[in-house]
Formats: sequence, structure tokens, C-alpha cells
Amino acid sequence: MVKETIRVYARLKPLGRRQQAGIYSVDDETSASSLEITVPRDLADGFINNKRESYKFKFQKVFDQEAKQDVVFESIAKPVAECALAGYNGTIFAYGQTGSGKTFTITGGAERYSDRGIIPRTLSYIFDQLQKDNSKVYTTHVSYLEIYNECGYDLLDPRHEASRLEDLPRVTIMEDPDQNIHLKNLSLQQASNEEEALNLLFLGDTNRMIAETPMNQASTRSHCIFTIHISSKEPGSPTIRHSKLHLVDLAGSERVAKTGVGGHLLTEAKYINLSLHYLEQVIIALAEKNRSHIPYRNSMMTSVLRDSLGGNCMTTMIATLSIDKRNIEESISTCRFAQRVALIKNEAVLNEEIDPKLMIIQLKREIQELKDELALVTGKQRTSQLSQEELLQLDELIQIFLEDSDPESTLDVEADMRKIKYCFTYLKNHSKISDGKLLSHHICEEKDTSKEDGKEELKKMKELLQQRDNEINILVNMLKNERKKAQDALFQLSAASAGSTSLKQSHSTNLEESQNPSRFFSLKEAKDLSSSVHRLPFISRMKEGKMSLGCQEAFEVFKQDHADSITIKDNEHLLKQRYAEAKCLGEKINEVRNKINHLKGKITQRHIQRAALAVSNPSEVLDALDPVEEKLRSQIEEEKKSYDTMFNRLKGLKVEIEHLQLLMEKAKMKLQKEFEVWWTEEGANLQTQQEKTELVSSPNTTMVYPQFIKSSQHPLASSFSETTRANSNEDPSGRNNSIIFNNPSTKIRTSPSSSTSIPLTGDSQTDADILAFIKARQNILQKKGLGNK
Ligand code: ADP
Ligand code: MG
Repeated sequence: MVKETIRVYARLKPLGRRQQAGIYSVDDETSASSLEITVPRDLADGFINNKRESYKFKFQKVFDQEAKQDVVFESIAKPVAECALAGYNGTIFAYGQTGSGKTFTITGGAERYSDRGIIPRTLSYIFDQLQKDNSKVYTTHVSYLEIYNECGYDLLDPRHEASRLEDLPRVTIMEDPDQNIHLKNLSLQQASNEEEALNLLFLGDTNRMIAETPMNQASTRSHCIFTIHISSKEPGSPTIRHSKLHLVDLAGSERVAKTGVGGHLLTEAKYINLSLHYLEQVIIALAEKNRSHIPYRNSMMTSVLRDSLGGNCMTTMIATLSIDKRNIEESISTCRFAQRVALIKNEAVLNEEIDPKLMIIQLKREIQELKDELALVTGKQRTSQLSQEELLQLDELIQIFLEDSDPESTLDVEADMRKIKYCFTYLKNHSKISDGKLLSHHICEEKDTSKEDGKEELKKMKELLQQRDNEINILVNMLKNERKKAQDALFQLSAASAGSTSLKQSHSTNLEESQNPSRFFSLKEAKDLSSSVHRLPFISRMKEGKMSLGCQEAFEVFKQDHADSITIKDNEHLLKQRYAEAKCLGEKINEVRNKINHLKGKITQRHIQRAALAVSNPSEVLDALDPVEEKLRSQIEEEKKSYDTMFNRLKGLKVEIEHLQLLMEKAKMKLQKEFEVWWTEEGANLQTQQEKTELVSSPNTTMVYPQFIKSSQHPLASSFSETTRANSNEDPSGRNNSIIFNNPSTKIRTSPSSSTSIPLTGDSQTDADILAFIKARQNILQKKGLGNK
């Protein structure tokens, strides 16, 4: 059992070019760091006299702006991952205002491989360790849960096309009689290696991104919990260890300042996200001594994280801070929250469970071994029952003993527990039996009845066993059917996207396979195919939308102007470089292998020569070491070393290439999604323009946009009414509290009506109209000197 307080770290996000730094200082001591934030005069001036100007907070460590992802992983996540491997539960959660770097810290940045966050690095570390440890059998699963507006969604269900959050399977909480929390409908996906786990992470992140709309702002308002489940067992041991590692990206912690008389900037303000308010309530209750009731049940998030907060878990918090001047009050709020969290003590215990079946097997084996040992010592094979003959002999001995009047007489029955027990039973019963009937008979009768009982018991057990077998058969059939269904669905999807390419190729990544450079690339292709299965929902959506020519042209224009296209191009360039490097390394590895084989051949030749020499010239002493062979051997050693170095580099490159591919895929999807929104808006603008034209019927407008005067029944109109209906289910609090953040990617999302993703019109005439409209408007704007978009 490990009892310790929750570890609390702070991480400061690097300032943007136009941001002005707030005044702060970091004081690093050996065991802890402190962060001092000074409120600038202009803010503090408005305060009542006793308000402090400078606030100091203690943390386990403060990561200043320049801290890199690998350092953050090493100090924060690696120790927790180690505990999870040893069988303890662990949680790492990031808390901070929107834009302070929670997602960057937990998942990672979307641009560079070196920006990989805690989740991919932890997966990589865990699978690396598992591979090294041969003493246990491990199984790993992952799950990915998003909680938005008190509803849980499974981000990892491959059967669902996620175009909206509501399309994902709903996850609900169940509590068993022991008050353990179970998440119903949250799928646990097995991941037997790093690659499979990363693909699942990618699938979840994609679902998360696609499901987000400007209206629900899911990424800032929802909590995401990625969980790695590890089970381990030593071969032959009945003990199984289970541990869970939660990696949590919480909703933005921004608050609205209390308004009203005397309301000041630095007074505690209300959270925008209600569940974070409940999280704080739980933290306050836990930090207070002698509190018996902790209000975990108030929100789904606190219920799910119950064990992580004040339970059986090693928990770590990362307070992410955006330290620019405008965010000082939020940063102070975040630090205050962190200080409260730091007071909570958790008790982590090893989660061990004994498998009763294995226990029985083990005990039986032990009994047999003891019996064998006993037989060896006594020289007699023993059964659990005494034989009829032995019983009669014993009866006789007891009779003699009882009838012997000598007080010194003894009853000698050898060191045999069965006989000793029999004697005691005899004496006990004998004192009750008055007719002097021999006990052996009595016991024999008893044995018969107990035999009857035993038969009855055996029959019952057999029936029970049969029943269990039937149940298992039914379950196995159900599982088979489910798997078949899933495979069929996947196959259909893949046929739609990848044409006739077969998907049955395996994509395991064992060392043997990747040692061969040509296999390395075929593996990559197989992976591409397999991951295209995960990415299908989006791609198929685009295909179904059937981009018309006009729409395609607009997409090209949109792509050129988009900020992310530079990143995509850069990554494409980098990917090409890496491919080339990997190819070159593959060739070199091949060369080295050929060289080693050649050297081996030489050694064999040398052996043959020396053997022949020994036959033709037996007087020569051939025992001495052959210097030529020694030299060849040391050459092989050298080559092997360079082979290992190159091979390890190739392995690293493979991981990097896969990561880059995922990053690019994600960026492309984001681009397409944003294009859809933009395109739909342009369609709406066009429609407004048409209506205006019809109403005003101005000759000027008619001249500029003659082609737009068409039927008012625009195809887009129907999609809009649908969208509005879908949004009427929105939680009103979500809408009222809507905030506009300075996220560059949302700059085009100005129209609230484009909340859910509307498929491209697919009507080539309409698309051409929209394109013409955009172009015409751009021309006008350029003439007016206002630039485009
Ligand atoms: P949050 O999830 O808290 O809303 P993000 O993680 O999305 O914030 O970060 C906002 C932006 O700042 C992103 O573009 C991200 O790449 C960038 N960012 C955050 N932290 C860092 C950091 N430590 N180094 C570089 N960029 C960062
Ligand atoms: Mg985020």
C-alpha cells in the first residue's frame, strides 16, 4: 500500500509573438519549486487595500516555457506508468484554462513528431517495458471516453460513423452493491502492440475532432479520458494483477467573474463548466479533515474519477498556465485549485485477484506432491481411506488397549494421521455406544451413507458443470457472430474506400518481420490499409458527398489559403525525407547482412581447409587458434555492431514515419471539415443574396449576379432547417455561456447555423453557383481593396 498526496506540477505555455508576459518568477529548489505571480499595478490598483499583489504557489516542479515534451514525460508520466506496470492504478490529469496547453501536454501537438504528448509516449514506454519483461504474461486494452454535458460517449467504437457526438455510443454509469463504478457501453479495445494502441488513439482523436462543432465547442467543454488497462500474470501463478492508467484532458477551467457590487477580478469566480465546479467541491471535501460525505455522484466526471481522487490510485495533476498578462487571474485560479489538490492523500494498493480455478489446480498439485513425498518416506502408498483390513486391525488394537488394566499401557498406531483420527473417533463414539457393538461396523455403515451423499453431490456438480458449459457455448457463439458482423462491416467499408485491395493482410510488427527492409515497407502499406479502415467514416462521407467540379476547385483555393496547408506540406516533405532515409538504411542493412554472410562463408571455408590439412598432415598441431579466423570473427563483430545501430535507427524511423502519417491524416481531415463548414456558409450567403435580390430587385445586383436568380427553393435550405432542429436539443447553458476564443482555426466559423456538419451539396449546378458567387465577391472586395475571405 502506498499512501501519498497527489503530486502537483505546473507547466507554463510559451508566449505567442504578440502576447505580453505577465510578471512571474520560478524558484527551483531540490525537492520542490515555487511559482510567484505578481499582479501588475494597474490591475491591483482597483483592489481594496488588503489585497495582495503577489501570489506564491508551491509545486512538485514548475516547467517553464521552454520545457520540452520529453522532459515533461520523463518527470511526470514515466513514474506513473511504472506504477501502472507494477499493478497500481494511476491518473494524470491536466487542468487549466482553454488554450493553456492541456491537449498539447496530454495528447501532443499536431505538427511535429517531437511534440508527441504524454499518451503516445506512455504507450511507447509501456509496450517497450512489456517486451523486455518475459517473466509475466501481459494483456493490454485501451478505452477512450468523452464526457460532454454530463453524457459519456465512446470514442473508440469502430462501427459508428461519427459525424456528430450524438452518433457515438452513449456510455452510462452503473454502481454495483459494493459501490464500484462500472461504465456501461464503453468499449475496451485490445491493443497488443504500440502501433495498434496508437491507431486507436488516432481513431478516438479523429472522432473527437469530427464530432466537434462551433456550437458545442466539444474540445474546450468536454473532458476526455484515455485509459490504458494492463493485466499481468506470472505463468503458473493463480494471481492476476490489474491496473488502470487514466490520462485525462479536462474541460477548460475558465470562469466568469462574479459581477455586482464589490466584485473584483481576483475574487473566486464561477466555472463555466458545471462539472468542474463539482470537481472542486469534491476536492474541497477531500482536503477537509473529518468529512464523511464526498459528493462524487454530482457529476459523471467525478464519478468516473472517484478512485483517482481520494481512492486507490497514484494521482498526478498538471496545472497548465497561459502566463500572458491578460490571463493572470485565470492562472492564479488554476494555481489555487492546484494547491487544494495537493492536500489530498491517496492510498494505492496492488490490485491482485486470485483465479479460483488456477488455485484449485495448484492445491491439487501440491497435495499430490506431498503424498508422493510421504510414500517415499514411509515406503507405503497411502490412500485417503483406511482399508477394511486396517480398520479391523485397529479395532483389535483399541480393544486390547481398553481392556488392558495396566495404567502404563500405550496404544501404538504409527505416525499415521488417518489411524490416529480413527482412534479418537472410536473412543468418542464408544463412550456413547452402550451395546458394545464394534465401531468399525458402525463406521462402515456411516461410510455407506456418506457415499450416497457424495454421489448426490457429484451428480449436482455435473449438472452445474453442464449448465456452465452450455452458457459458455452460447456466449462463444454470440461473440463469434459479433466478430463476424464487425468484420463484414469493415470489409464493406474497406471495399468502398480502397477499391479491390484486400484487407486481410496482417499488420503485426514483430522484430523478425521488420528486420527485412522490404518487409518493412510492405508492413507500412499493410498498416496504411488497416488504418484506412479506422479513418473510413470521414473518407466515406466525403465520397458520398461526391464533390462536384466547382466544389473541387473551391477546395483547392481554400487549401492554398489555409494556414495548416504549410504544416501539411512541411510534414509531407519531412515524410519524404524519412522515407528516403529509411530506404537508404534498409539498403545499408542489407549490405551489412550480406557482408556478415560472406564473412561467415569465409570462416566455414577456413574450417574445411584446416580439416583437410589435418588429414593430409596429421603431425601438424591444429589445436592452436587460427589468427585468420580470429580476424574474420572480429570483423563480423564489428559489422554486427553497425547492423544493430542501423537496425535500431530504422525501428525509430518506422515509429516516426507512422506518427507523421497520422499527424498528416489528422490535419487533412481538419482541413476538409473546415472546408465543409466554410462551403456551407458560402451557400447560405448565396441564398441570402438571392433572397435580397428577389426582394429589392435592384438592377445593379441583378447585373452582378445574374446567374443566382433561381428558384427560392435552394437545396441548402432543407439542410439548414434540419440543422436547426438538431440544435434545439442543445443544452441551453451551453449556448448561454458561449465564449469566443482566439482560435485561428475557428475564424471561418462565423455562422452559428453551420453547427453540425452538412454534407456537400453534391448538386454540381449549386456548387458551381456557390463558387461563382465566392469568386464574384472576391473580385468586388479586391477592387475595394479589402483582400479576400
Ligand atoms: P488546451 O487544450 O488547454 O485548450 P492546447 O493544448 O490546445 O490548449 O494549446 C493551445 C495552443 O497552444 C495549441 O496550438 C498548442 O499547440 C499550443 N501549445 C500549448 N502548449 C504548448 C507548448 N508547451 N509548446 C508549444 N506550443 C504549445
Ligand atoms: Mg484542449
